[in-house]
Amino acid sequence: ALGTAELSAWIHGFRDVVAEKREWLTELDSAIGDADHGANMARGMDTVVAKLDAGVPDTVDELLKTVGMTLVSSVGGASGPLYGTLFLRMGMAAGPVTSLDVAALAASLRAGLDGIVARGKAEAGDKTMIDAMAPAVDAFDAEAAGGADLGAATAAAARAAASGRDATEPLVARKGRASYLGERSAGHLDPGAASTTLLFEALARATA
Ligand code: ADP
Ligand code: MG
Ligand code: MG
Repeated sequence: ALGTAELSAWIHGFRDVVAEKREWLTELDSAIGDADHGANMARGMDTVVAKLDAGVPDTVDELLKTVGMTLVSSVGGASGPLYGTLFLRMGMAAGPVTSLDVAALAASLRAGLDGIVARGKAEAGDKTMIDAMAPAVDAFDAEAAGGADLGAATAAAARAAASGRDATEPLVARKGRASYLGERSAGHLDPGAASTTLLFEALARATA
């Protein structure tokens, strides 16, 4: 099961990989946005980790709420409120428990994805983080329904996220800054789909 220690390891792992891939995320955003996605994510996750290092909450919902509130308040770009919403909704769905089994994590991830869709109004194919996240959550659900363990389900979700990220390349953006470019947004990966894939890859590593 995913306890608060594993959740904290996931968040730390995401911070580390975001720091490592910061230049790449910025490069992707410089092609179709304003070249700040690497900085936004790195600053947000550094602030989150500093907060957790001051004391990891005892329950899953408090931990996820801390992550979400910190991202909302520390990241100026579109990605802050959207990732913040993911974690806030995941926490609300999880409730005051000390760990999540595969089914509970599936429900929590689904609630988080629904929250991002409600907040950002993007649909599949709009060339946003949804294009990596929705296939990842669908893959996680399918594995969970088939009785897979946590490691197998998170690995499948990470693979699905990567495929979804890659599939954003030919798309024309219909949401966010990249949509200002119209047809010229085609031919580039979406930065948010790239960071979302890092998020699911970090989850897979934390639960392997
Ligand atoms: P900003 O665009 O404000 O500079 P970032 O560069 O940090 O913020 O994040 C950009 C990413 O946010 C995009 O690549 C896209 O994946 C995601 N995004 C933008 N708008 C939306 C939306 N309405 N719904 C879902 N994701 C979005
Ligand atoms: Mg940007
Ligand atoms: Mg910006």
